[in-house]
Formats: sequence, structure tokens, C-alpha cells
Amino acid sequence: MSKSELTRLTLTSAVEGLKSKQFSSAELTDAFISAIETANPALNAYVATTFDLARDQAKASDAKLARGEGGRLEGAPLGIKDLYCTKGVRTTACSGILENFVPTYESTVTQNLFDDGAVMLGKLNMDEFAMGSSNETSKWGAVTNPWKSRGSNAPLTPGGSSGGSASAVAADLCLAATASDTGGSIRQPAAFTGTVGIKPTYGRCSRYGMVAFASSLDQAGPITKTVADSALMLQSMCSHDAKDSTSLNMPVPDFSAFLGKSVKGLRVGIPDEYRLDGIPAEIDALWEQGIAWLKDAGAEIVRISLPHTKYALPCYYIIAPAEASSNLARYDGMRYGHRTDHGQSLTDIYENSRSEGFGKEVKRRIMIGTYVLSAGFYDAYYVKALKVRRRIAEDFTNAWNSCDVVLTPATPSAAFELGDTQKAADPVAMYLNDVFTVTTNLAGLPGMAVPAGLDQSGLPLGLQVIGKPLDEGSVLTVGHVLEQAAGFTARPEKWW
Ligand code: GLN
Repeated sequence: MSKSELTRLTLTSAVEGLKSKQFSSAELTDAFISAIETANPALNAYVATTFDLARDQAKASDAKLARGEGGRLEGAPLGIKDLYCTKGVRTTACSGILENFVPTYESTVTQNLFDDGAVMLGKLNMDEFAMGSSNETSKWGAVTNPWKSRGSNAPLTPGGSSGGSASAVAADLCLAATASDTGGSIRQPAAFTGTVGIKPTYGRCSRYGMVAFASSLDQAGPITKTVADSALMLQSMCSHDAKDSTSLNMPVPDFSAFLGKSVKGLRVGIPDEYRLDGIPAEIDALWEQGIAWLKDAGAEIVRISLPHTKYALPCYYIIAPAEASSNLARYDGMRYGHRTDHGQSLTDIYENSRSEGFGKEVKRRIMIGTYVLSAGFYDAYYVKALKVRRRIAEDFTNAWNSCDVVLTPATPSAAFELGDTQKAADPVAMYLNDVFTVTTNLAGLPGMAVPAGLDQSGLPLGLQVIGKPLDEGSVLTVGHVLEQAAGFTARPEKWW
């Protein structure tokens, strides 16, 4: 197989090819290294490459495969979001405050992947501390989407915060990638790049060793080329972990067993409140198309109401900054991370280290967070937001009486241009990207984005499937049916 044939493989077919010795992990890894060397100057998806480590891991995998041994992902080259602590490999969360941070330990999710035989190609770009929807808040610069609008050369965002993960998967710079989702950071970038992204139920994956943003919302998940690949990645990523008290002590089902199952009789909820004004007609049309596909496959379509949906974004943008301000208090220039050269007193060192190390969006969130948690405003904002969050979760609990999964659009638009002035000048315009995705984080539910079509300018659009707590299985079943029906085979044209 040629190098470009190798890098185009899905994770599932690559793993099969390795097991049946059609090619070696060393060959596959080399193909990805060449692809990254060619593409990364243009895309900026990787902020660090670990090619020596990758070659060593590939060699060890080939030895295992030769003996007929090896794990679920043996020899498969992956990209790792720079949010995951990787032992001995710089981990920055794309923030200046962590620019020289080299963890002495491994995150549970990456350890699980390595235990199953994965090879790490490098660390993937992201918004600083996963705060953003365009990957433009990264200390290491924006990521470029491999897709372009028809007839335009303008660079587009791959979405955020997992922009590096999405761009790398879409451009064949890894077989699959880890990502993370606090308000939509797996699903929105997946939708913007024609890839698949799933955020499992809160607690399915351990957060140990994931740089914290908002602990009650953060959840790990993969970005992949296909639904089957997502099932495979998730299988390795999920685990109970004594090192994370919020990780679930529940058996992890065989996710692949849910692929190819029938949706006959499955009740698919269509929430009235997700029909928003000002959404492009193409997105509504895609949603209708998705409904028709599922109906044709035998599902029962039911209208549902999630009445508190309109409060989800304001609620999220109180809770997430509140938790972030608390989590980010640990970066004080003393224990690890950036320390200033300027200042006389301890307070000077704290203040200067933090003001030099953090970027603008992170500072905005710290200020909002400390404000809503302050003595005078705690009840008015933070406690109120917690109550609204409860209502949003109850909306779903009620909906599950009449449906088994929910189908919505994944994003309110296709990928937009990097440097979009309106979104850069008005943070709220940027926050609106998450209008369809934040509810599942607030309610702790699994959600998946599946590519379902192209808009008029040839850019990918995604649909979102939301499931009951712990029912990733039905999400995968429905995602797979949509994937089959959509037959999404479009690929970005190579310009890099
Ligand atoms: N875009 C959202 C934010 O900026 C969500 C980010 C995420 O899911 N990490 O907070």
C-alpha cells in the first residue's frame, strides 16, 4: 500500500490490516510521520510531535503482532489532545502558563490507550484550557481546517476547542484522536470537519491527568473517521478509576456490538425548542433529512419538549467559568508553570505570573467566574445557575418517558472563517456555537456528532444524537444508521 493509502485507512481497517500483517506498524507510523511533516506547517494541528517515541512504540507493537499478541489498538498511530498529561512529554493545554510543563505521570485515558497498544504521534492543538469554539485562543496559534469553501481560499476554523484533533483526523494525520468536551468541544469540531465525535456519559472516562477546565462538565472522548472507529476508541478510553472519584464504577459494554443493530421501533425525540430563529435553512433541511432517514429505517419519530433549553447557554457560561476560576487558581507561578521575572512581593509574583501566562479569553472566564462566586453574587448567579441546570436535566428525564434518543443539528452553522471579526469582537457570538451541545454536558448525557451532508459551499454539516445516561449504545446504533444513510464520502481537497 502507498503512504497515502495507509493514512486514509479507518482505525478499524488499520487495526485489522496490522493483525493480518498486510503492513507493519512501523510502515503505518512512517506514513503518518511523512503526512504530518508535509501538512503541519499549513494546518498547525500538532503542537508537538513525538516521532522517536512513535517509532519505538511501533517497533514494540510489531514484535507483539509477530507473536500473534497485542491489544485492541495494537500498533495504531493516534494524536493526543494537548490537554492530556503524557509522562515525559510536554503538556501545555495550549496555555502560556504551562509552556514548559512536562508531566511526571500519565493520564488514565492515555494510559488505557497505550495499554491497548496505541502509538502516539504527538500532541494536538486546542483552545487555551479548552476555552473556545474556533481554536484561536491557543498560545501556539490557530489551527486551519483542511476544508475550504468552494471558490474561496480563505482559511476556515476547524472549530474548538478540539480543533487540532478534528483537523488532524480530517486531513489523515492520525487514525483517530483523543479530544475533550465541556460544552461541545468534541462535537462542534467534528461537525466542522466531516468527522465523527462522541462525548460519553459524564464519568465514563477518568479525568485523572486531564488538565481541568470545568470539572463537573469535562468529559473525554474521541474524534474519528467513522462511527465504528468511535466505538473502538471509546472502548479503550472508558474505565473506572480510583484516581477520579467521579469516574463511574460500572461495566463498560461492548460498544461495537451496537453497530448494525436495527432502529425499528426506537423512539427518536425531536425537540421543538431546538428550532431556532436565524439558523441557516440548510441546517433545518439537514435535520429534516436525518428525521426522514431514521423514519425510513423503522424508527418512530416523536415531538418532544425541552422547555428550559433557552437557559442552557447562560447557565453554562456561569457554571463553566465558576469552576474554571477555581481550577485555575492553582497556577500561581510557585509550584509549576510559568513564573514571572518581575515583582518584589509574593503578591507581585502571583499577579505577574498569572497576567503574563494566561491569554485574554482565559482571563475573561476567571473574572466572570470569581464574580459569580463572590459573596455578594453567589446566590444570584451561581446558585441560580445550579437550579437551572437541574431543570435542564429534568427536561431530559421527562423526555425519556416518550423517546429513547434525541436528534438535533450539531451546530448552528458550518465552519466559519478564521479571524471572523464579529465573533472575535463579541464573545457571546462565539459562545452561540454551543447552543445545541451544552445541554448534554449540563445533564451529563452522551452525545455524538455524525457528518450528514454538505452545505451550498461544500462544507460539512453534522447531526447530533443524544442518549439516555449510560446509553452510548443507542447513540452508536443511531449514529451508524445515519452514517449509512448519509453515505458521507466527501473529503477535503488537498491544498497543503
Ligand atoms: N466552546 C465552549 C467553551 O468555550 C466549550 C468548550 C469545551 O467544550 N471545552 O467553553
